[in-house]
Amino acid sequence: MTKEKFDAIVVGAGMSGNAAAYAMASRGLKVLQLERGEYPGSKNVQGAIMYANMLEAIIPDFRNDAPLERHLVEQRFWIMDDTSHTGMHYRSDDFNEVTPNRYTIIRAQFDKWLSRKVCEAGGTVLCETTATGLEWDSAGKAIGVRTDRAGDVVLADVVVLAEGVNGLLGTRAGLREMPKSKNVALAVKELHFLPEEVIAERFGLTGDEGCVIEAGGTISRGMAGLGFLYTNKESISLGIGCLISNFAETMERPYALLDAFKRHPSIQPLIAGSEVKEYAAHLIPEGGFNAIPRLCGNGWVVVGDAAQLNNAVHREGSNLAMASGRMAGEAISVIKSRGGVMDKASLSLYKTMLDKSFVVEDLSKQKDMPSLLHTNSPNFFTTYPQLISHAAQNFVRVDGTPKIEREIATTAAFLRARSRWGLVSDAVRLASAWR
Ligand SMILES: Cc1cc2nc3c(=O)[nH]c(=O)nc-3n(C[C@H](O)[C@H](O)[C@H](O)COP(=O)(O)OP(=O)(O)OC[C@H]3O[C@@H](n4cnc5c(N)ncnc54)[C@H](O)[C@@H]3O)c2cc1C
Repeated sequence: MTKEKFDAIVVGAGMSGNAAAYAMASRGLKVLQLERGEYPGSKNVQGAIMYANMLEAIIPDFRNDAPLERHLVEQRFWIMDDTSHTGMHYRSDDFNEVTPNRYTIIRAQFDKWLSRKVCEAGGTVLCETTATGLEWDSAGKAIGVRTDRAGDVVLADVVVLAEGVNGLLGTRAGLREMPKSKNVALAVKELHFLPEEVIAERFGLTGDEGCVIEAGGTISRGMAGLGFLYTNKESISLGIGCLISNFAETMERPYALLDAFKRHPSIQPLIAGSEVKEYAAHLIPEGGFNAIPRLCGNGWVVVGDAAQLNNAVHREGSNLAMASGRMAGEAISVIKSRGGVMDKASLSLYKTMLDKSFVVEDLSKQKDMPSLLHTNSPNFFTTYPQLISHAAQNFVRVDGTPKIEREIATTAAFLRARSRWGLVSDAVRLASAWR
């Protein structure tokens, strides 16, 4: 390991770390990036929908060579019970624009590509290197990291913690608490391979068009959680995740949930005949605004999932990671260009930038949403989906029963399942949390 001092050390080569490293290296800073995985992306898991706008802010011409799977023209939201789904589908030819808004990606390829950009911009990337601790001076300022390479210490003016949701480095250093199990989901995912033309036919797609499904309901067995199905070029990403605290209470097994999701009559035909080549499990920070820890201090900043910056309600994470990483990198570059010291006061520029951005704006507006869905999960994920299915079936089934009787039966089912006031209270709380 090199003994030279760096302007910045970035721990982690995921979305946030790569964004931070690129922002600084492309502005001429001397950057060292450490990644514990064999290569960038080897440890990383995502659905994965990638939001173009946040990558454009880092690499405007990314479409020239980034490994993109499909651009999304159709989004399906499904509320499921055991035998049905009630769907809201949005498909628009507007998404066949010159610069599409959302793409599916495969992280192992995408992170490698973004890391190559960091190297091309002048950053040094060291893989198979774990940062084991932060190094401090006597005044309590972070001055570098220790690594697992022969007890080595590497020095820098500032350390960017981009180590993902678990963030052991920051936790061990006392910069934040270990994320609570009620604020973290465990998601499992499989990659199902199918010929490109089969995927196109099953989802009504042409060329690189893509379709994604987000699904909630009895598939999570009363736990707070969602399932997803995303189309790639020659594969389908299929997964489901629920809160860790719910898994602990119910003793449900994540893989059993995924297995049942795959066998659901609405999902099974979409993946029929596929070959599963990859299986992965990963955590997702879901605590929202209230779970965000301190974002900066003397000689350090924290970005992406390590800062719990994830909008679980809207299924966004990689974009918040890229945006926060970029802003941290830009703030550090500004401080460096002014010849400033990387202390808590100067690094608060990063927090100011983040506070003014969509990241904090969105999360703070919906700060009560995660706890509402998490505490009332049996209602939101079992009772209401079953009632919605019941109402939809009552509406479409024709068997000689007068319509009015069917409508009364539907209303009675709602009132029986949950008191009128309970329903009204859930609706009001949902509406006020969803601002
Ligand atoms: C199943 C699933 C589906 C998802 N789907 C979507 C989606 O469709 N769209 C979306 O926007 N978001 C999605 N997300 C969220 C998204 O994946 C994350 O928000 C995003 O990856 C966060 O990026 P990050 O760089 O902060 O962390 P990560 O991508 O986790 O990267 C952290 C990196 O740090 C490295 N590291 C950790 N500790 C050390 C250490 N001590 N030393 C060196 N290296 C270290 C890790 O190996 C890793 O490479 C999904 C997440 C999951 C789990």
